[in-house]
Amino acid sequence: MNDMIEIQCPNCGGTVRRQTGEYFAVCPYCNSEVGFDELKEEAAVTGMRSRLEALDRRFKNEQEFKHKNAKRKKAMWIFLLIMTGMYMLGMIFAGIGEEDSALVGIGAVLIISGLFGILPCTIVYAGSYTVFNDVKGAEESNGAAKFREWLRLVGISLLLLALATIAAVIICFMLDPQK
Ligand SMILES: [Zn+2]
Repeated sequence: MNDMIEIQCPNCGGTVRRQTGEYFAVCPYCNSEVGFDELKEEAAVTGMRSRLEALDRRFKNEQEFKHKNAKRKKAMWIFLLIMTGMYMLGMIFAGIGEEDSALVGIGAVLIISGLFGILPCTIVYAGSYTVFNDVKGAEESNGAAKFREWLRLVGISLLLLALATIAAVIICFMLDPQK
């Protein structure tokens, strides 16, 4: 995979070597940074159109991947936080509703809904999780990465639930300190 492209340094004219897929190279003669645009021009004049296209495709793929990933992650976090919030509210209702069975009932429903929302959320997100393959220059589905991401999310969810429980207990205590 040591596919080198040789170009002229736009600053001193020296020969700069660059590996395919890299966006920057440093000139060994004058230390100036040769950026993507210069490389593009250089590649075009030296007739390396296929390499140029591959570079463009890879760049586009990577941008799309990053954009999609950020959107997916944001949606997952919003959902996870709503579910944790429901769980926490449920704990508070159940905690302060001692003799009020309606409040305890609502609390129980919220706790169960929150808990049951979190598990499918982690599964759906981990199932759609992809990685960017640097060699292929494209997005790729990877079973091991999906599983690792799922374990990570389960860990985060448990931590969120623990924090929500502590917060609910503190809030219950503040609302009803003689208990
Ligand atoms: Zn130079």
